[in-house]
Amino acid sequence: MVGEGTRAVRAGLPEPVKHEPTLPGPVFAAHFHLPGDPTGPYAYGRDENPTWTHLERAVGELEAPGRKVETLVFASGMAAISAALFSQVGAGDIVVLPNDGYQVLPLVREQLTAYGVEVRTAPTAGNAQLDVLEGAKLLWIETPSNPGLDVCDVRAMVTAAHAQGTLVAVDNTLSTPLGQRPLELGADLSVASDTKGLTGHGDILIGHVTGSDPQLMAAVRRWRKIVGAIPGPMEAWLAHRSLATLHLRNDRQTANALAVAEALRGHNGVSGLRYPGLPDDPSHKIASEQMRRYGSVLSFTLPSRARAEAFLRSLSLVEDATSFGGVRSTAERRGRWGGDAVPEGFIRFSAGAEDTDDLVADVLRALSDTAGD
Ligand SMILES: *Cc1c(COP(=O)(O)O)cnc(C)c1O
Repeated sequence: MVGEGTRAVRAGLPEPVKHEPTLPGPVFAAHFHLPGDPTGPYAYGRDENPTWTHLERAVGELEAPGRKVETLVFASGMAAISAALFSQVGAGDIVVLPNDGYQVLPLVREQLTAYGVEVRTAPTAGNAQLDVLEGAKLLWIETPSNPGLDVCDVRAMVTAAHAQGTLVAVDNTLSTPLGQRPLELGADLSVASDTKGLTGHGDILIGHVTGSDPQLMAAVRRWRKIVGAIPGPMEAWLAHRSLATLHLRNDRQTANALAVAEALRGHNGVSGLRYPGLPDDPSHKIASEQMRRYGSVLSFTLPSRARAEAFLRSLSLVEDATSFGGVRSTAERRGRWGGDAVPEGFIRFSAGAEDTDDLVADVLRALSDTAGD
C-alpha cells in the first residue's frame, strides 16, 4: 500500500483519459440527459453528481485505505451530522452525546428530544459516556473534543457499545482522516465537517459521512435525498482539489501547534494549556494510541477576558476568527459565544501553515506586549 502523501495527492482520481484534465472540472447540472428508463447513477442533481462521486471516492480512500466503504458528501458538517443521527434514530430510541462537544450539539439534542428520542450526555474524558450507554441505539463520540481537547478511547467505546448492539459514530472533524481513522478503530460511521482541516482554506462549507455497512449508508443517503442538504459542484470540486495538499498542511499544522504549545508551556499568565500532542497532556496517552497526527488545535486560558482580547488584537499573523484547521492561523476567545463551559480568558488556537518560527515569535510577542493590560 502506498504512503499517506501519495494517497492524498491521487485520491479519487478517475482513470486518465487523453485530452482530459487529471481531476475533471465541476459538473454543473440540475438534471442529466436521460432518455428511456431511468437507469444509471446520474439522473437528477439532488441524488448524484459526478463531481461528488470523485470526492466521495477520495475521502473514502483516506478514511479507510484498502477497504470497501461508502462516503456521502453534504452541504456542511451539520448536514452530515444531522443525516447520520436523524437517519438512524426515531421516537423511543436512546442517543448518547458528549456534553463537551461541538457547540451546536445542544440544539441537536433539543430537536432529538422534540422527536421523542431520549438523549443522555456525559463528558468525553475518561470514556464517561459508557456510564450512560445502557440500551442506547447510538453513541456519538467527538475525540478530541472541541474545544476542550479531551479524548476518549475509541476502541474501548466501540467494544462496549457493540457488545450491546449500540451503533457508534465519531465526529472526526478535528483530526481529519490523516489524524485518525475511526472506521479502523471499529466505529460504524465517521462523520466530519470538512469546512475545517480537510479542505483547510476557510473558503467553503462541506461535510461527509463514511461507513461500510450498506444498510446504514442507504439510510444516510435516503436522508440526504429527503432533506436535500447537498454540496454545490464548485464546493465539491474545491474540496477535492484541496485534498492533494492535506498531508502537507496537516504535517505543518501539527508541527506548528506543537511548537506554539511548547512555547506557551510554563509561560507566565498562561494556564490550562491543552494539546494532545504534548507528552504530559492528560489526553496524550490515549491519543498516541489512536491518532496518527495530533491536529492543529490547542487551547489555553489567559487571566481575564480583557487580557485575552488584548492578546488577540495584538497578534499579527493570527486572525481573530472562529473555525479552525485552515492554512492561516486563527484564534478566538471561545467564551464570546456562550454555550461552551469555558473560562472568560479561554483561547482556542488553530495553527496554520506559516513558518514555525514566525508563528511562535508572533504569539510570544503578543503575550509579552499585553502582559501588563
Ligand atoms: C464546525 C464543526 C461542526 C459543524 O460543521 P459545519 O461545516 O460548520 O456545519 C461539527 N463538528 C465539529 C467538531 C466542528 O468543529
